[in-house]
Amino acid sequence: MDLLNTLVEKGLRRELPTREEALAVLATSDDQLLDVVAAAGKVRRQWFGRRVKLNYLVNLKSGLCPEDCSYCSQRLGSKAEILKYTWLKPEEASQAAAAGVAGGAKRVCLVASGRGPTDRDVERVGKTIEAIKEQNEGVEVCACLGLLSDGQAERLKDAGADAYNHNLNTSEATYGQITKTHTYADRVDTVQKAHAAGLSACSGLIAGMGESDEDLVDVVYSLRELDPDSVPVNFLIPFEGTPLAKEWNLTPQRCLRILAMVRFVCPDVEVRLAGGREVHLRSMQPLALHLVNSIFLGDYLTSEGQAGQADLDMIADAGFEVEGAGTTTLPAHRSEQEAARGCGSGAAGGSLCGSAASTDAPGCGSACGGCSGHSEHEAPAPVQAEAGEVRSDLVAVRRRGAGTDLAPNA
Ligand code: SF4
Repeated sequence: MDLLNTLVEKGLRRELPTREEALAVLATSDDQLLDVVAAAGKVRRQWFGRRVKLNYLVNLKSGLCPEDCSYCSQRLGSKAEILKYTWLKPEEASQAAAAGVAGGAKRVCLVASGRGPTDRDVERVGKTIEAIKEQNEGVEVCACLGLLSDGQAERLKDAGADAYNHNLNTSEATYGQITKTHTYADRVDTVQKAHAAGLSACSGLIAGMGESDEDLVDVVYSLRELDPDSVPVNFLIPFEGTPLAKEWNLTPQRCLRILAMVRFVCPDVEVRLAGGREVHLRSMQPLALHLVNSIFLGDYLTSEGQAGQADLDMIADAGFEVEGAGTTTLPAHRSEQEAARGCGSGAAGGSLCGSAASTDAPGCGSACGGCSGHSEHEAPAPVQAEAGEVRSDLVAVRRRGAGTDLAPNA
């Protein structure tokens, strides 16, 4: 296909595809899907080899958010029966983080629900970062705390944060239909503040909220312009008790096309498969590893992912390798830019957040991985869902790890 040859050539040169080319990827047929994955896989391997970076989410503060993000199980008025708790103590967060690091994660993503942190919250998170770094040498820490006020990004950086996550989530044109309590411009502003403070910026999207192909392309082009180092791609987990509970409109094939499009538009950026991968890609998850170079290990913010060991087995079985702590995530040209900004993240041994949010998309901040997934003890039935079919049986609310007495999944 001429389209795919063109996109591979552009991806290898880090050249921006045209909007028409990006839209054409989303419009490919199921017969063309493996060719699309193979083409985007060439771009992925050029910049990231066969490495997969593992990230681990720690939900520092869950639920009870005053914001109204429609996709979020932690939103104002959410009837989702998620864990609700206030700030974890630094040692509790550090203990949860250590489980992820022991499981192979090189980045810990600290997420808190809420519109944004107070200065006292920033101080509290600073102590948590200190505790995590003391216990886990070389770990990267990303904070995802919502909208930042002036000076807060700098204080987080001084406290040892490597990265800050705040997702754009959807296109500017549709943002107002998803959230009314803050604006798209507020989100852009926070990503820019993080960048300006020398933090590695992490910002991504949530697909499956009823948006059009044009909206998806718009948000990915906006992300390319903002130039984050990592782009988490969440697939909406339609939590019961949230306004988007009936938005079951993704298929594994659609998810793969979206990931391929993001890879072509952001060829040399850490593209992270975030919340919703188990729910929507299901048995097609290994194919996504040819497109993304980063995933979350274990559970999400408010939902359970597949067992951490299953994540590791999937990576090995598909012929990929977990990225080690001594390896630089980003290609040399990007890590040099990052070093010039003074950020540690992405550097070898050194340094998203991940965010993927709590579509469990963290609202807050974030991106953090949408949370969802099924539990290891309740493996989802191997049944193909049709687009539009409600499959709430695929979503398990998180009942272990941070905020509980049970061991985390990592
Ligand atoms: S996404 Fe973040 S800000 Fe929005 S409702 Fe959820 S926790 Fe609150």
